[in-house]
Amino acid sequence: MIRLAEIPWVEAAAWCASAKQPVVLVPVGATEAHGPHLPLGTDALLSEELARRVADTLEARGGTVLVAPTVAYAITEYAHGFCGTISLSPATATALVTDICASLIEQGFLRVCLVNSHLEPAHVASLRAAATAVEARTGRKLAFADQTERRWARTLTDEYKRGACHAGSYETSLMLAARPELVRDSRRALPPLPINLAEAMKHGVRTFEEAGAVDAYFGDPAGATIEEGESIYALLVTMVLTTIEETWSS
Ligand SMILES: [Zn+2]
Repeated sequence: MIRLAEIPWVEAAAWCASAKQPVVLVPVGATEAHGPHLPLGTDALLSEELARRVADTLEARGGTVLVAPTVAYAITEYAHGFCGTISLSPATATALVTDICASLIEQGFLRVCLVNSHLEPAHVASLRAAATAVEARTGRKLAFADQTERRWARTLTDEYKRGACHAGSYETSLMLAARPELVRDSRRALPPLPINLAEAMKHGVRTFEEAGAVDAYFGDPAGATIEEGESIYALLVTMVLTTIEETWSS
């Protein structure tokens, strides 16, 4: 795996011109409250780890992967009431991702793929809008692996499917697999909060507090394990690889 930010432009140009076109992964996250036990950058860190794991698998198959600098800001309106959360307007969020991806494609990196971990509906919509805008501007498809699509969502954990998928067991397990040193031990004392956030959003709830999460988590952080994190990551790697194959095989 090559990090774009860690090589000089002449090496980037050589990869661009290479017959063996690399896949460029763009990790996308948010800066957003994730309970009292996970860092504000959780979604960005989870996407960076997913990109690393996808790169390992693709490179084991003979491919080359460049990883672009992480997009660590997004629309995060639900967590707005919690300190440290930084939210973009939809127009800024869509333009930011559109410009980054179109810029890469215009320079000759023809296979660009978004790797996302922030699941707020308005954010996912902004990534879809960016994919449409990139294709209109460059004529090239942007790959977007989206775990909120039904075909992927149904492969994920029961807690995820029950809609309690913010800073609960699902994300805490992923963090234990990715960056365990950043998970606070206080998670073990947090009572489960089995609120269906996805359903609450559909019924017009607009903040985590309104949904009943006064500490900015849902689900069961105490039940998280590294093993669960590893098995979720395996599924997410399959999702990204399948999306990459589907996007550029047609
Ligand atoms: Zn998250």
